[in-house]
Amino acid sequence: MSEELVRGLKCRLCGKIYEKSPLNFCTDDFGPLEVVYDYEAVASTLTKASITARPHNMWRYRELLPIDGEPTVGLNVGGTPLVRADRLAKALGIAELYIKNDAVNHPTLSFKDRVVAVALSKAVEFGFRTVGCASTGNLAGSVAANAAAAGLEAYVLIPDNLEQGKVLGAMIYGAKVIAVEGNYDHVNRLCSQIAFKFGWGFVNVNLRPFYAEGSKTMGFEIAEDLGWRAPDHVVAPMAGGSLIGKLLKAFKEFETLGFIPKVSTKMFGAQATGCNPISNTVKTDALKVRPIRNPNTIAKSLAIGDPADGYFASQLIRDSGGWSEDVDDDAIVDAMKLLAETEGIFAETAGGVTLAVAQKLIAQGRIDRDGSTVLCITGNGLKTQEALIGKLGRPPVIKPNMAEFEALVGSEAGELVGA
Ligand SMILES: *Cc1c(COP(=O)(O)O)cnc(C)c1O
Ligand SMILES: [Zn+2]
Repeated sequence: MSEELVRGLKCRLCGKIYEKSPLNFCTDDFGPLEVVYDYEAVASTLTKASITARPHNMWRYRELLPIDGEPTVGLNVGGTPLVRADRLAKALGIAELYIKNDAVNHPTLSFKDRVVAVALSKAVEFGFRTVGCASTGNLAGSVAANAAAAGLEAYVLIPDNLEQGKVLGAMIYGAKVIAVEGNYDHVNRLCSQIAFKFGWGFVNVNLRPFYAEGSKTMGFEIAEDLGWRAPDHVVAPMAGGSLIGKLLKAFKEFETLGFIPKVSTKMFGAQATGCNPISNTVKTDALKVRPIRNPNTIAKSLAIGDPADGYFASQLIRDSGGWSEDVDDDAIVDAMKLLAETEGIFAETAGGVTLAVAQKLIAQGRIDRDGSTVLCITGNGLKTQEALIGKLGRPPVIKPNMAEFEALVGSEAGELVGA
């Protein structure tokens, strides 16, 4: 049914159209390929009413996702909460704040389940039996889990310095996890060679155009949950620079289909200072992205020195009237604490990056205090606990008696019950 909704793949540099195939770059100029849809055909089948009648997961927007048949992988992904964050808003001194909480995405607690659900459903359609990825951590767990549930063989390649929660969180699913000496850019280059030589479906290499479209569902959910409107500001973390562009593409598609009013969302990209190729490009008004050779930050999930979509991300940030900033590791930890203490949400280091950057942009006056702001929380703090070791102190230890407890907290601290 949705077969005719996807026109093909289009080169983002020269506009050449390719058939739907496992290919991620233009053979003329190496430009990245992007899925194009026939929006008139989509509009004739997808309505707000048909969306809201469906289950609360990412597939309620399936006509805007690049699969031909029914999805076969990741059927329960998405539908995460958009949390009205009044206590955090007060701490930041802004009026209207929301957290899009993909730290609780099913099944692996990051937004990567969205991209993997599309990529692996597409891999099944293309007939791949073996899939893989180059990962900074969250993608590893998501490919491993979703491939396991779909009965696909998975090869997961990671840099050799990842957090234990990310490594064990991939190995538990029985995937073949391989640690590569080097950083993400070394891993990614190796995966391109493997995908080509072995003919496997690497979700973020030869399946990348399809994979990337999965991120749009985070934007669709935000707009729907805001009561069918786009927010004034979105702050999103950037690694390869894909998510931030797909959030805006989602809003623009809803606008094109007449589901929401005209979009004027300012997009704000967040990075760590220890790996800031995209924010550096925006801040210095450069045209080209200068790769970072040796990324060094606790936000390992964002540590991509040579971001595939960095050029397009920096362009769209400027064009939207937004901006990009980066923050150091201490600011990241402080923001992880602030989010947890105000909203009860334990985000991974990338979430600390997003909130700390938002604080900086509010202080700079780039995020207007009266507008609506959405912070995209993309991963779960339980997977990056190393970042907090030694930062929160240790719980005091007492003997199991009241005297020790009262000596610790002071007897006057308690409210007398039944007195
Ligand atoms: C992968 C990842 C991102 C960024 O994704 P890109 O689309 O590559 O920019 C953000 N947050 C977390 C936690 C991630 O794992
Ligand atoms: Zn081209």
